[in-house]
Amino acid sequence: KPRHFREARTEPMSEYMVGLSEYEVARKRTIEANEAKLFELGLLRAGRASQLGTKKVKKAKARPVGDPDYMPEKRTTRVSGLKRGRPAVVDESTQRSREERNRGERAAAHAERVASVAEERVAALDAPKPADDEPTPTRCIIVEGAKTGRSKCRRCMEAISAGETRVGMESWMVGRQVLVWQHPKCFWQGLAFTEEGSGRGRCKQTKEVFAVGEHRLSASAHTTSANFKLNVAAELLRPVASALGTCTVSAISGAGVLSAAELKAFEAGVASPAPDAQAVVPEVTPTPTASEALELERDRKQPAEGVVARASGRVAWRWAGALCYGHLLPKSETATHCYARTAKGNTKTLTKGGVYWWML
Ligand SMILES: [Zn+2]
Repeated sequence: KPRHFREARTEPMSEYMVGLSEYEVARKRTIEANEAKLFELGLLRAGRASQLGTKKVKKAKARPVGDPDYMPEKRTTRVSGLKRGRPAVVDESTQRSREERNRGERAAAHAERVASVAEERVAALDAPKPADDEPTPTRCIIVEGAKTGRSKCRRCMEAISAGETRVGMESWMVGRQVLVWQHPKCFWQGLAFTEEGSGRGRCKQTKEVFAVGEHRLSASAHTTSANFKLNVAAELLRPVASALGTCTVSAISGAGVLSAAELKAFEAGVASPAPDAQAVVPEVTPTPTASEALELERDRKQPAEGVVARASGRVAWRWAGALCYGHLLPKSETATHCYARTAKGNTKTLTKGGVYWWML
């Protein structure tokens, strides 16, 4: 062993070594002795020695004061350009208020907004929060008996009593999407036939793009208005029409823009029997075993796209890694979609051509 090591062992215990174990004392002494030797050989700077053997504490980089070239470190992560609290999707009311400002109507728009925000806050508090087990509506326009007497019609602002038929459509309210309820009569009054101007709009239900000049149906809920393909709209309005009993398509605002053929087709679409959850008697067939269902997945039998086959029977689909079962709702089928009733009584939307579902 080197001489300095042996010498180090005999030195008296330094004050800072009190409380250390025999091993730790020996280790410190070895380090000190080695450092002393290194210093002697000119291989260690004096100030450095005391730091060895202790954990280095990383010092925060001091911000140079008065350095004209100082620049804070650039972020490498992306920062959202959207302001906090603003909805991710800008709805029409926001767009409209922007235009109003641009036209110099800032004060008027502000006063109106203050009033409407206050009102919306109350409404948002009243608005039923979607329960976790309740899936987001697959249909953009839903008709149901009011579950409570707490909802209010957003058009006439009158309360909707429990059990009374109400029509729901999603709308942005105070930065979030809420289901806005209306009386079937009030909802109908808010409908309008419009013409696509830009060619960039899409059907709210199917997400299909509208051609420039294409006729569409616009439905409104609070400040949101959604456009639908005519055939899709007719199907969506069926339950509303059946809730109303009597309704006239020609009374819808803008019906004049439709051609006679379009009007006739729309009336026929609205009038055909409404898909009624209660009217569909579920077939009582045993649920096939998973292996049986998976065998049928290979064939992936589905009703043909582009036609309404009114297919019925059991279907299976994959969802979040699970195999799910349901019954097709033949009356709800469209050229592009099938709908199935789940065991829980929910409606599952199945896109024709989708690889995730098949008939059993
Ligand atoms: Zn109403």
